[in-house]
Amino acid sequence: MKTETVRYKTYLKKNDVVFALAGREKGKKGKILQVLPEKNRAIVEGLNFLKRHARPTQNNPQGGVIQKEASIHLSNLALFCANCDRPVRVGVKILEEGAKERVCRKCGEEV
Ligand SMILES: [Zn+2]
Repeated sequence: MKTETVRYKTYLKKNDVVFALAGREKGKKGKILQVLPEKNRAIVEGLNFLKRHARPTQNNPQGGVIQKEASIHLSNLALFCANCDRPVRVGVKILEEGAKERVCRKCGEEV
């Protein structure tokens, strides 16, 4: 059996403001810190915090709780359109010169 990685077509990029559609952080929004295309996931600022209890180490003799953003599956994220003030689907407009531009499917504004 062959294992295939399904790649979601995504136009999400670093620094995009996205909205969580599902999961623990449903209804919240944040800025993309990093996209992990090979995993179809993204790390979003302030979303999906993972608490880890760290054992004391040489670098961190106190130990304690480390909070870090965990990645979120791209299918749970939607781009947030500031113009529409809601999460929207993204369309791609091909410009005359052949360049691609991402637009909000709702209002047609460039995102
Ligand atoms: Zn819009």
